[in-house]
Amino acid sequence: MQIIAVLGAGTMGNGIAQVFAQHGFQVHLIDVAEPALASALVTIEKNLNRLAEKGVLDSHIIGETLGNIKTFTELQEAVKDAHLVVEAATENEALKLKLFKELDAAAPPSAILASNTSSISISRIAAVTQRPEQVIGMHFMNPVPIMKLVEVIRGYSTTDEVAEAIVALSKKLGKTPTLVNDYPGFVANRILIPMINEAIETLYHGVAGVTEIDTVMKLGMAHPMGPLQLADFIGLDVCLSILNVLYEGFKQPKYAPCPLLVNMVRAGKLGVKSGEGFYDYSESRKAEKVSAQFS
Ligand code: NAD
Repeated sequence: MQIIAVLGAGTMGNGIAQVFAQHGFQVHLIDVAEPALASALVTIEKNLNRLAEKGVLDSHIIGETLGNIKTFTELQEAVKDAHLVVEAATENEALKLKLFKELDAAAPPSAILASNTSSISISRIAAVTQRPEQVIGMHFMNPVPIMKLVEVIRGYSTTDEVAEAIVALSKKLGKTPTLVNDYPGFVANRILIPMINEAIETLYHGVAGVTEIDTVMKLGMAHPMGPLQLADFIGLDVCLSILNVLYEGFKQPKYAPCPLLVNMVRAGKLGVKSGEGFYDYSESRKAEKVSAQFS
């Protein structure tokens, strides 16, 4: 059975682990934080039960899926027999460069090393390894078990064979892979994040309130979620860091982060994960507008 190591057991890592395990792969899920591993297993079990209740999944495969996942806090032990590593650790370039050096040293020479990064250059990550041709972006969308897209990002040195292998594997997972090249933001975030930034600018300039902006985009453009609510779900810190990558990468003012976004991140208003962003997620006022701040 093929071994897939998933490095990072946070929001994305647990979803990626679940999807591979559901499709019969042996998953080695790694995190430096033991509690992240424990809570990933709880989340995966909950998600599988929910899918079974909805009739999307046969309940008899729940035990089998969970049995396909082993957890590790030591990277070396977890990746030594891996066929593929999918890195889904915190979005921080210095951390990813350090992790890819370690992965390169510890994983079998034939293993493909993939990153789920939202915006960090795959070519840059690949360059710290001795196998840049086997490094690729495998950008899953959140929530991973539900979202069909995998943005497959070819680094400067990625070979056709490696790209084809990841495209074929993504299809095996029931996903729709889309092959793109390695430029800042790739495709998904080059288009999405400036739109979110523009929604924040629209709020900042007092053109309309939070609810009004989201309603225009939901009902007018048939978006399932307004851009400000989506920003809260992605995390305002993540949106800001992707904008910084676009701004640095293209040196164009259109990518400059809105000062309101910068201020909210400084104030720790990061969206759902901090309990407040453009909306309030505290238990009593779930998804209510934080109106005072912007009126
Ligand atoms: P997260 O903060 O939920 O999880 C990151 C995990 O990485 C944490 O559990 C942390 O303990 C772990 N980690 C940190 N340093 C580590 C190390 N040295 N070794 C092992 N584990 C380590 O983050 P996330 O939202 O799951 O994002 C992970 C990656 O996926 C990022 O690159 C992000 O840009 C990308 N991504 C996120 C989303 C999203 O919507 N959240 C969507 C697509 C891609």
